[in-house]
Amino acid sequence: MIEYRIEPADRHAHQYRVTVTVPDPVAEQRLSLPVWIPGSYMVREFARHLCGLQAVQGRRPVVLDQIDKASWVARCSGRAALRVSYRVYAFDTSVRTAFLDQRRGFFNGTSLCLRVEGRESEPHAIELGPLPKGWAAATSMKAVTTDSVRRLRFQSPDYDELVDHPFELGTFWSGRFVAAGVEHRIVVAGAWPGFDGQRLLDDTRRLCEAQVAFWHGSGRRAKPPFDRYLFALNVVDEGHGGLEHRASTALLSARRNLPRLAVAAAEDGYVDLLGLISHEYFHAWNVKRLRPRELTELDYTRENYTRLLWFFEGVTSYYDDLLLLRAGLIDPPRYLRLLAKSVNAVRTTPGRRVQSVAESSFDAWIKYYRADENTSNATVSYYAKGALIALALDLSLRRLDSSLDQVMRALWESSAGGPIDEADIAQALRQASGQSFDRLLRRWVHGVQELPLQTLLESVAIDVNEDRAGFAASLGLRLSEGPVSGIQVRSVLADSAAMQAGISAGDELLAVDGWRLRKFDDAAQWVRPTQAFELMLVRDQRVLTVMVQPDGRSPYGRTLRLTLQANPERTAMARRRAWLGR
Ligand SMILES: [Zn+2]
Repeated sequence: MIEYRIEPADRHAHQYRVTVTVPDPVAEQRLSLPVWIPGSYMVREFARHLCGLQAVQGRRPVVLDQIDKASWVARCSGRAALRVSYRVYAFDTSVRTAFLDQRRGFFNGTSLCLRVEGRESEPHAIELGPLPKGWAAATSMKAVTTDSVRRLRFQSPDYDELVDHPFELGTFWSGRFVAAGVEHRIVVAGAWPGFDGQRLLDDTRRLCEAQVAFWHGSGRRAKPPFDRYLFALNVVDEGHGGLEHRASTALLSARRNLPRLAVAAAEDGYVDLLGLISHEYFHAWNVKRLRPRELTELDYTRENYTRLLWFFEGVTSYYDDLLLLRAGLIDPPRYLRLLAKSVNAVRTTPGRRVQSVAESSFDAWIKYYRADENTSNATVSYYAKGALIALALDLSLRRLDSSLDQVMRALWESSAGGPIDEADIAQALRQASGQSFDRLLRRWVHGVQELPLQTLLESVAIDVNEDRAGFAASLGLRLSEGPVSGIQVRSVLADSAAMQAGISAGDELLAVDGWRLRKFDDAAQWVRPTQAFELMLVRDQRVLTVMVQPDGRSPYGRTLRLTLQANPERTAMARRRAWLGR
């Protein structure tokens, strides 16, 4: 058994102390820290936060040689247990690494636990503590009883599982519910006093029941593929994110998104939080179990490539909001507003004509996770376009009296909830519909052709309407505006009036036709939509003036709105009922 002792040792210096004990080490025992965390496809070099490594066997010091950025060799002699200790700096509030201060602790094993090479398939244990007075720990890792209150013990059958159960530490809010016969726990760190925990529990329970029914039917014997589940939510002033695990998820959300006592209506922020919860819970099936064949064996030392993130993130993004609707947490008009947001996001991404979602999946490591001012022009999000491909597949299947729901269940059954590849997806589509989707997959997934969304949406009695876009958006400008920073250009979209005029990312926009700007869209009050105007801007301390000629026919000038058709034709109406329940 590989043993880790983890102590929140110095909260003011944000440092954990970790000691790993290896019984029967080999003469040249290698240990290494992962460079990435599964679910977040970027090399993050967690080892940069390790320091003070020391090794002993009994009382005898052992030479520890670092051999690359994240690996060490302990020169052992004899069979006495090897003990390696070190400190880990932890001050990142994201869900991907580790955090420690006076109020709270959080960690993923990938940030704290050195991998003992050659011993990954043995059981691994964590002894946690002593914890500060009043603190508790929440994790989905199996707890082992101890006689100490302030020291806790947990166990995993192997290293992969050890690093797949994050820990939340501190004085968090905690609540429980049972869904489909399985205990689910929600902990919330950093909540306001007026936080309506019961509402979060009730809504999440409905959502979990809808998801279990999605995968396994609604019979009494329907059970999810885990025997406990933890939602570990940290709320902060500003922040958003989630990371999926086999029996838990770590979530980060803005504090204002929490439901509040005595506020009845579902506000946008709360719906956003429920969407995040839905997304990560769906991943317990789609990516943690049903997963890319290439990721069957994880390599913690380097990038792990797959062309299928469009499927695992895109399909999950498609169903996250749709399952809020099916659970009765939002109504169809609100669902269509959320869907229109994704449609518009992809429509105004010129990179969709440059990069396919298969390429976008493969390059996630250096592109999606390293966004810059050119990202929209050169890449497409496998989340956003992946979700629209899922929509296009679902609506195409519904025309053939099938659905993507059936395809997902068929994939789950045929793979026994395990690894799949694109051929399996193509085969499941063929079997569910009686038709080949190979040509469409080539176009939509491996090509950059537009998705026929308008036709497909009309076939389920949804109208696609056009509204005029805001002034900055219609010119192809993405801005950040603030009273102190002024109007800064974040990016300039390809084939836009702004690019034509020579505006660049980083420019500060000052005046239109000699009138000082406070907010850019205010200029719409004194220039006509299609009339050329003079824009004064600052770049690298110099004031420049450029002429901007708005393009009335540009797709940036319009946003799409989706609505339920008032008097639909019968077949379309029946399909819409099957899809949206209305
Ligand atoms: Zn995801």
